Parts: sequence; structure tokens; C-alpha cells
Amino acid sequence: MTLPIYADRLARARAALAEAGTDALLLTPGANLLYLTGFEPRYSGERLLAFILQRDGAALWITPAMNQAEVEQSALPGQQMRVWMDEEWHLPSLRDATAGLKTVAFDDETRAAFLLDLLAIAPEVRVGKASGVMRGLRTCKDAAELAALRAAARTVDETIPEVLALCRPGRREMDVEEALRGALRRHSPESEVAFSIVASGPNSALPHHHTGGRELRHGDVVVLDYGTRLRWYHSDITVTCTVGEPADPEVRKVYRSVWEAQQKALAAIRPGVACAAVDAAARESIRAAGYGEYFIHRTGHGIGLDVHEPPYLVAGNEEPLAEGMCFSVEPGIYLPGRFGVRLEVIATVTASGVELLNAPSSPELLDALVG
Ligand code: ZN
Ligand code: ZN
Repeated sequence: MTLPIYADRLARARAALAEAGTDALLLTPGANLLYLTGFEPRYSGERLLAFILQRDGAALWITPAMNQAEVEQSALPGQQMRVWMDEEWHLPSLRDATAGLKTVAFDDETRAAFLLDLLAIAPEVRVGKASGVMRGLRTCKDAAELAALRAAARTVDETIPEVLALCRPGRREMDVEEALRGALRRHSPESEVAFSIVASGPNSALPHHHTGGRELRHGDVVVLDYGTRLRWYHSDITVTCTVGEPADPEVRKVYRSVWEAQQKALAAIRPGVACAAVDAAARESIRAAGYGEYFIHRTGHGIGLDVHEPPYLVAGNEEPLAEGMCFSVEPGIYLPGRFGVRLEVIATVTASGVELLNAPSSPELLDALVG
């Protein structure tokens, strides 16, 4: 990303502040700050490192002396910098930076302590959520962001055959996960592994199972959900396979029902359609198959600098889809104590419909032993 991109994004943030009637935006290291300035999250812990953008365009960095050199690399010409030492602490800097402000859109993903500090030194300031100002800027991806998301999606697509081959009887979930992470690093050394879940047998019925020591058995269902981060943008995929012929006779029917729901959701995507309508398309399909009560989460989440970000494909979200939005489409059916199936791909809204960033989910249940 180059400097003109950040100048443009800062101008859009100022416009969003004006529209919200908010005096200033206060961000700490995270995806919003990365988006606006290119500043990569660095460790600052309990020390306040902040970027404050005022509606009139004035921009100020507050940084611990320890992080000054890193902040200077991202500061644009004309942006002020206030460096503080540990013996002084960050309160005087924060007090000076927010003096005279009536309303602040405060980073709602930061430490609560920083917000409590602000409320203590400036009790008259009205505070709102920074995400409310930032979400409109980040939901529709530009061409460079789409290219980054597409490249990230490729890193996980390419590993699917290798990852399936790891699911062998006698291997523990944690062994499969370790090898899966190794495969990702081998295929894309420039990527970080962002997260991974290996859920086998009855554990596959837990959507966010924490990979553990269970040994895979012949006949198991295995849900593999994993993602990478490449050039700041994320991938996120879920494949479901079996270890040989499934032990539970209902697995194939459930798999097919999830796949069909995913196709229904994808078919509903085009500009102007409400996020809730995409969720409803998947949910209605699963309900018709008789599994409505076992689809226990939303259909999808936006993806970009964060793995989970707006827009959310969920009942009640009437936000219309727009070209450039990127999100997962990941219906699932979870039969407690037995097994679960989830299929996840990343899709983007085009001018006339939808494009997948991943290869399509397999319409047939994959058998890890057959390959
Ligand atoms: Zn996932
Ligand atoms: Zn996901």
C-alpha cells in the first residue's frame, strides 16, 4: 500500500466523522488503525499508543518512547507526535490530546482501561464506538484488497488434498493440526497461520471446538477449519471429511443438506439484497431438510484485515449487499454427541452477483482414506 491510499482513507474517515457529527476518532493498534495508516499492530500492552484524527483533519500520534521509531515509519507528513516516558505515563498526553473535544469515537476493541482513563480525565466528553465510524469505510474492498484476499484464499485451497490425507485412524486432533499448520507454512512461507480447528467424531458437533487429544477413528467425521494471513488479509475455509465409510448412517444426508444450503445462500447474493436474506436462504434450506434446530450460528461473517468483521449474514441485519463486500458462507448442522458438518468458502459481491474467492466446496462427502 502506498501513501496516497492512506491520504484517501484518512479523508474518507474525516467525512465519516463529519457525517456522524463526531469531533474525533481515537484508535489504538489494530485493524482499523492498520487500514487508515498502515501501522501494523505492535506490542504496547498497558501503555497507550493511539492515533487521534480530528474532523478538521488534524492528526496526532500518542506513543510510548519505546514505540516511537515504529510509529515514525507510519506517520504521514504533517501528523503530530506526542512521545511520553514511563515516569510520566500516558495520562497527560491523553488529556492534552482530547482537550476541547465534545465527542470522541473511541476504539471499541482496545483495553477498557484506556477508556476509563479518558472518562476520568475528561468526564464531559461523550464517547461513541470507533467501529461505527470505520465500518462503512472497510466493508467494500477495493481492487488491491480483493487481490490480497484472493491470494490468501489460494493459500488454503492448495492445501486441501494434503490436509485431508492427514486424517488417519490413530492420529490425534493435535497431531493433525500441527501437520496442517506445517503444510500451510510450506505452501505459503510468506503467510502466517491465523487459526486452525480440527474437530473429530462427536467433537465435530462443536462449531468452535478447541483442538485436543482425541484420536481419530475409522468412520469419524472430521471438520477442519483454518485460515492464514497474507499481506495483512485473511483466508478462512472449512472442509468436512470422513475417515473411511462414515459410522453414522445420517452423515451423507446431513452433508448434502449443508452443501445445498450453501448453494442456496450463494445463489441469493447480489447487490441490494439484504444480508439477512442470504442467511434466510441457507436457513430455509436446512429447515426444509429437517435440521433447522441444529444450525446454531449465523450463515457468515465479513473478512478482510480481521477474520471476523462486518457485514454479518445474520437474521435481522437488513444492510444491503454492495459490490466489493467479502464474507464467508458457512452453514452447518451439528447433531450433539454424534457429529457435525460445516462447509465454508469466501465470496465477494460483484456488480451483478457473486464470485467465489475459494474453490467451491465439494458437493460429495470427502473420504480422507480414498483421497
Ligand atoms: Zn472458518
Ligand atoms: Zn469463518
